[in-house]
Amino acid sequence: MSDYDKLTAHYQTINRFAHAQSMLGWDAAANMPSGGNDARGDAMAELSVHIHRLSTQPQLADWFSGVEQAALTTEQKASLREMKRSWQHATLVPEDLVQAQSVAGSKCEHAWRTQRQENDWVGFEKNWKEVVTLSREEAKIRSEALGLTPYDAMLDKFEPGTSSESLNTLFSDVKTWLPELIEKALDKQKSSNIIMPSGTYPAETQKALGLEVMKLLKFDFDHGRLDQSVHPFCGGVPTDVRITTRYDEQDFVQALMGIVHETGHARYEQGLPKAYAGLPVGEARSMGIHESQSLFFEMQVGRSKPFVSHLSRLSKDAFNAHQDPVFAEENLSQLYTRVEKGFIRVDADELTYPAHVILRYEIERDLINGVIEHTDVPELWDEKMKAALGISTKGNYKNGCMQDIHWTDGAFGYFPSYTLGAMYAAQYKAKMTQTVDIDAAIQSGDLSPIFQWLSDNIWSQASLHTTDELVTRATGEVLNAAHFRKHLEQRYL
Ligand SMILES: [Zn+2]
Repeated sequence: MSDYDKLTAHYQTINRFAHAQSMLGWDAAANMPSGGNDARGDAMAELSVHIHRLSTQPQLADWFSGVEQAALTTEQKASLREMKRSWQHATLVPEDLVQAQSVAGSKCEHAWRTQRQENDWVGFEKNWKEVVTLSREEAKIRSEALGLTPYDAMLDKFEPGTSSESLNTLFSDVKTWLPELIEKALDKQKSSNIIMPSGTYPAETQKALGLEVMKLLKFDFDHGRLDQSVHPFCGGVPTDVRITTRYDEQDFVQALMGIVHETGHARYEQGLPKAYAGLPVGEARSMGIHESQSLFFEMQVGRSKPFVSHLSRLSKDAFNAHQDPVFAEENLSQLYTRVEKGFIRVDADELTYPAHVILRYEIERDLINGVIEHTDVPELWDEKMKAALGISTKGNYKNGCMQDIHWTDGAFGYFPSYTLGAMYAAQYKAKMTQTVDIDAAIQSGDLSPIFQWLSDNIWSQASLHTTDELVTRATGEVLNAAHFRKHLEQRYL
């Protein structure tokens, strides 16, 4: 057996344990009674340790150095590159640091649950200090090994090949036009007459409606299913994708579009190439590219007028409410393109969302690079929120830097992925329009030409290319924020 073959077999073994881990995780979120929690936690932790051991076995170094590059095909070289990347990420950070981060993270997160309600920055800051210190340590280790700045080394975990230099360029461009666009959209919206949902929308009916919409989006039910969880996600494995949503019986709007979003993630997974199943090269390219699929489904397809027309028809049928003005096409369309300035990122609409992401990106970049200290964050948050959306968070920590869980356990480096995803999605649409009549396909109810394009250009390519290569092959250019701007202007002005 060649060293390349040994590596391939080894990564397939790792993948089988990861398969089991992901199903246990889905079950814990969607099915498990609360009494199962402790034993499940132990089982999953044991599995994580085992996967980590497999991922860092000493003989891997010998196999990697023993591979004869010259004997490999282009695709095998790509597979080797991705296995190596996975190995580097697993071995870079020493186990005692990972352990310390896990302890500090759960302590900070646990206390945050009550501290947030009490707006207790002083209490939070004491725990968070340790989380930030340890994340900086991790960033330093990664930075030295990868030859990147500390923040870029963290970014590399989620967006390989993306640098803060390119993000700075993309985002500073957005900052020159976004605030004015938001104001104009709000002005235009003043004259519209939105009827908000005010009935009761049973969860069972919402689910039946969601399943209809998933059929329209050609979700493969032989290789996946829809369930409920507190925090919606897309999990499982490509041959068995598990998506979840959360139903609010007073309002169907969010859950329905949430299903469209998760279906986008799911179809990417279901469309990954079988030839590389179980190998790093057969996985999704990056978090930003994953989000580009869910956001293509949600923003480019789901909120478009022809698709909302399907939603209108299907929801009138599902709720047996053919005369209810809430479900009228024009009203639903307004509900799905409503702009509102708010404090909370997860509640933000398509237009104000990038403002939340850019604010966090700038703060976390400077925090990890040591340009600012963690105690500077609330004031910077307030300053940037005022500049971006004209709202102040002074003294309002719970709706400012303490609003969500991500920074509390040291998840730095992945916020930019959301806006990168939205930008990629707009760029695909611009390119796809040249060969596919997108609106006509949506109107006809047969969206296959759209999915074929995504399959050919993105899904089937998995991680065979770098992100820049993938996007250039698909659209003829690297990421260009102009497409995103044009999309937003067309929709909101
Ligand atoms: Zn998503």
